[in-house]
Amino acid sequence: MMGPSHALSGASAWLASCWALDRLAGYEQSPLAVAVGTAVCAGSALLPDLDLSGRVTANRGGATVARTFGVFSLFLAEVIEKVSLVVYHATKLRKDPDRTNGHRTLTHTLPFTVLVGWGTTAACARYGRWAVIGILFFTIGLALRGLFEEWAQRVGWAVVTLVATAAAFGTYVALPPGRGYPMLGFAVGVGCLVHLLGDIVTSAGIPILWPVPVGRRAWRMIGVPDGLAVRVGGTVEVIVLRGAFTIVALLSIAALYVPAVLPPPLR
Ligand SMILES: [Zn+2]
Repeated sequence: MMGPSHALSGASAWLASCWALDRLAGYEQSPLAVAVGTAVCAGSALLPDLDLSGRVTANRGGATVARTFGVFSLFLAEVIEKVSLVVYHATKLRKDPDRTNGHRTLTHTLPFTVLVGWGTTAACARYGRWAVIGILFFTIGLALRGLFEEWAQRVGWAVVTLVATAAAFGTYVALPPGRGYPMLGFAVGVGCLVHLLGDIVTSAGIPILWPVPVGRRAWRMIGVPDGLAVRVGGTVEVIVLRGAFTIVALLSIAALYVPAVLPPPLR
């Protein structure tokens, strides 16, 4: 899927989870906490594609996400892509083909998802304020780039960076301390997981089973058969899936805060 679809799927998954936690487990959150979690999850749903590098020196190429913070994120994507490629070759088995590019390898696995989710919580617990602000800044920036793609392209990466900085500091000041860190890591992990699900319905697939070997391959790409696969950027993705994500997001917000507008079975 394309960047905006990934971001939208992350936002709707988080909002639906907040509603489920509220109704089924009695876990209430303030509107601000829900909004922050939604932004973090939407941004993190773009994170795995930070392995799609462009040409840094020419400031060209790369996935939506790699352009968020201009050459800085393009450089980061270049590094992540190369590290992923090294891990691929270090762990590949006999039947895994050689690769020249690390896209859709390490960052598209379950161990990576768990690691960044856990790492986020661990970093916040250990380094406190600056880790929280840094993670908020980074994921909010990605969310802005994904959810408001046209705006982000029009105003450029410097404005996106400034808005993300202001939002991160503002959020840190406004949110009550104490219970946010596990939720922050959880939002990052859920975002990455939703990204993997979004890529699994395309025909290229992802190595979702890694590092479990199957048929002498550690990096078998698992995807939906060609006939059923969602074409990247096609009508199903842009109209049907994005429409469904938007409806789920809006229904979840309504169910959380204005249940009176919904018909009885959905309240
Ligand atoms: Zn991807």
